[in-house]
Amino acid sequence: MENLLSKIGVGRKDVIPVNHVKDSLYVYVKCKLCNEIIPVRISLKEEVQENYDKSKEKSCAFYLRKDVAGSGNNRCFARISIYLEFDGQFRIIGTQINGGSFVSEDEYKASK
Ligand SMILES: [Zn+2]
Repeated sequence: MENLLSKIGVGRKDVIPVNHVKDSLYVYVKCKLCNEIIPVRISLKEEVQENYDKSKEKSCAFYLRKDVAGSGNNRCFARISIYLEFDGQFRIIGTQINGGSFVSEDEYKASK
């Protein structure tokens, strides 16, 4: 039943674990070099761009590009690049990441 509903766009969920908090959302990325899990706060008002270019392959309503750096506690200064696509309700419908992977908030909490 859930598959059928998601096909017609009802009850669509974010494709990665996300914490929505008012005008912000949090995603958690794991550095592939040192395995540090970094919480990333995204301001929906200030950082997310409206996609005016719907003619191309991108059909999302909003998108975000962001570079993330770790705390430095692991003496790792790798940068992780994330790209997120959102629908009109700011649900994440597409992702790309370089230098790491997306993990859940639970994994982040367990890593502390
Ligand atoms: Zn790292």
